[in-house]
Amino acid sequence: MAARIATVAGVEVSADHYIDGRRVSSADRFVDRSPIDGSDLATVAAGAGAEVDAAVEAARRAFPAWAALGPDGRAPILRRFAAGIEDRVKDLAAVETADNGSLLAGNQHRVVSRAALNVSYFAEHALTLGGRTVNSPEVRNHVCYDPAGVAALITPWNAPLMLTTWKVGPALAAGNTVVVKPPEWAPLTCSLLADIAEAAGVPPGVLNVVQGIGEEAGAALASHQDIDRVSFTGSTDTARLIGQAAARSITPTSMELGGKSPFIVCADADLAAAAQTVAGQYVNAGQVCLAGTRILVEESIADEFLALVRAAASHMTVGDPRDPATRVGPLIHPQHFERVQGFVDRARLEGVDVLWGGERHNQGQLYFQPTLIAGARRDQEIFQKEVFGPVLTWNTFASDDEVIEVANATKYGLAATLFSRDEARAMRIASGVVAGTVWVNCFFIRELAAPFGGSRESGIGREGGTWSFDFYCDIKNIAVRKDSFV
Ligand code: NAD
Repeated sequence: MAARIATVAGVEVSADHYIDGRRVSSADRFVDRSPIDGSDLATVAAGAGAEVDAAVEAARRAFPAWAALGPDGRAPILRRFAAGIEDRVKDLAAVETADNGSLLAGNQHRVVSRAALNVSYFAEHALTLGGRTVNSPEVRNHVCYDPAGVAALITPWNAPLMLTTWKVGPALAAGNTVVVKPPEWAPLTCSLLADIAEAAGVPPGVLNVVQGIGEEAGAALASHQDIDRVSFTGSTDTARLIGQAAARSITPTSMELGGKSPFIVCADADLAAAAQTVAGQYVNAGQVCLAGTRILVEESIADEFLALVRAAASHMTVGDPRDPATRVGPLIHPQHFERVQGFVDRARLEGVDVLWGGERHNQGQLYFQPTLIAGARRDQEIFQKEVFGPVLTWNTFASDDEVIEVANATKYGLAATLFSRDEARAMRIASGVVAGTVWVNCFFIRELAAPFGGSRESGIGREGGTWSFDFYCDIKNIAVRKDSFV
């Protein structure tokens, strides 16, 4: 089968799989369209069982030699990989924006560099893992971080480059080999990553990419009997299927899932900063897992704060994500647009108050107006379910106990944001909220060394810093009796 190369935003991208160091085609293909204007970007190979088998076999073959290199041997290769990502900032940013509609300026100035850091940080961190011992009177416990084997990495469309490198970096640094299944609605930057890895000297089979539809390629990968880890970022519903598949062979899973995060504003907060940050939840059309989508405002300042948020939101220009003035780009896909509109329409029928937005924006087919919904009850769908669009809810609270209870009143527990100038109060509320991350007087800061993950139906496990290695390694204790060697 002839290899397929697409030209996207002036950049050549392979639309095939990358297995065992080679481009591999498939007879089945799917069309990848840009959410910016609906134009066809590429006709991408749709893998399934056969391609997944080939990729897992290649990863299995490559594993012993990659593991045997040790962190010192892998670090120079991974540093080159990171540098290669950084060298292609313009290309990666342009392709990511064309593919998923995320803001070009954000990709150029922040996201691609972070993707490079996801690789280089863990390469350096792996150098510090060995040599831990735990002493007891009788034995010396040598703690070993053995690479687990072949890791299956499955990622979503809203930030494929950032989230794929967030998994690839620590998995490879720890000595695993990987099979990546990119999202079918934005598969292209993961394909470029394979080229960059190859140019950096990542050996054949160490990093494999199988393109395809979730229910086919993704399901085949998650249920494969010869993988040692599944790291998944995506929706909670898909996670249930992946969890069931992985359970058959007791494969450990890491799950980074959806959220319906509270955004709490206390009367003593810096209201101007809080209002700007609330408006910032509309960025990338709200297709951000960590977005604080339930705005909870202390009653006494609700009117004043609403006026500030209204003013800040009026600056959230909807438009083409390649335009530096744009803050809110398109939704990813017509199906997703219908889903977002459906949430708002059903909420309206249930009697909520749409304070602004709620409809398609005149910029184009997939653009949705930044929306604020007041008066939703706790038991309503719009308060409970992740919309994954530029749709926020607005409720007030009268006491700290009440806001903690309301903040915790969904099945999710990914993140929370809290604005207050009173440190003791902020810490009390933050401690009471169930969430993997609570941002106090800030938002979206993700330190690589800090743990990241979700509670409840927002995820299983934590990654970041040493926590990533806890997942991608089999941690072994060799307990040596102290007086047994003379
Ligand atoms: P999704 O669950 O539909 O798809 C995610 C990935 O899983 C895709 O690659 C898809 O092809 C694959 N997939 C789908 N069905 C599968 C199956 N049966 N078996 C194996 N793989 C399958 O999610 P999405 O719509 O791509 O992404 C949006 C979701 O991701 C939102 O819920 C969002 O909150 C979440 N998300 C979470 C984080 C986080 O860090 N917690 C980050 C970004 C996105």
